[in-house]
Amino acid sequence: MTIKTVVWGENVHEQTNKTVSDLYPNGMHGCIAETLNKSTNIDAITATLQQAEHGLTAERLAETDVLLWWGHAAHGDVSDEVVERVCEAVWSGMGLIFLHSAHFSKPFKRLMGTPCNLSWREAGERERLWVTSRNHPIAKGLPDYFELENEEMYGEPFGIPEPLENVFISWFQGGEVFRSGVTYKRGAGNIFYFRPGHETYPTYHDKNVQTVLTNAVNWAYNPQARVQDVTDAPNRPVEDAIEKIVERGPRLHQDGEDGFK
Ligand code: ZN
Repeated sequence: MTIKTVVWGENVHEQTNKTVSDLYPNGMHGCIAETLNKSTNIDAITATLQQAEHGLTAERLAETDVLLWWGHAAHGDVSDEVVERVCEAVWSGMGLIFLHSAHFSKPFKRLMGTPCNLSWREAGERERLWVTSRNHPIAKGLPDYFELENEEMYGEPFGIPEPLENVFISWFQGGEVFRSGVTYKRGAGNIFYFRPGHETYPTYHDKNVQTVLTNAVNWAYNPQARVQDVTDAPNRPVEDAIEKIVERGPRLHQDGEDGFK
């Protein structure tokens, strides 16, 4: 069993900021893919915003088991058509892991349906991540807490719907706390949001963070076949009803006609 994984990177800061390109010469997406590929059951490739269809064609998504998404400065440049395609892939069973500032990405907001806002501060604070769900597969192999010496602060209130599970809570030196590892199910797809990963810090080189990402890919993987025609809304005619019925009352639509969407 191989989990086909795509690490999507916006790839803007890596091209424009020397601190970021020094930390991640192959991009954050390249660093994350390299980490994931150390697992023999994961086959990770990368895709970026700048590629045709952002590297997320229908064919590519159809064969992707788990997608990871890092975006920040160019959320608005992601085409709505690709966003809808990504969401449909999730509803039909693809796993999706949102990283750090992807809380404001178009697919995250579309899948959450809430503002996804938070408070923030860029001051290189220590972040302490506490495991709040000890037996959770995403926390496998981790101590009860781990620390990142320099991170951006994200603080509550975090404008997300109530998660299915909370896996991590972060504390920051300045006093704020944050739900930094949360899971959701959307349609047939597993979703995980993981907070750390500010571009000017070496977060994706951290061993514990790498463990979380590898665990998360394994957790998000859904071995079942994709649900087909996941957004279809068929109009079933009276004569096709499972039990025999007689039509009653007035109606607006004709048999077989498409409804409004
Ligand atoms: Zn950041």
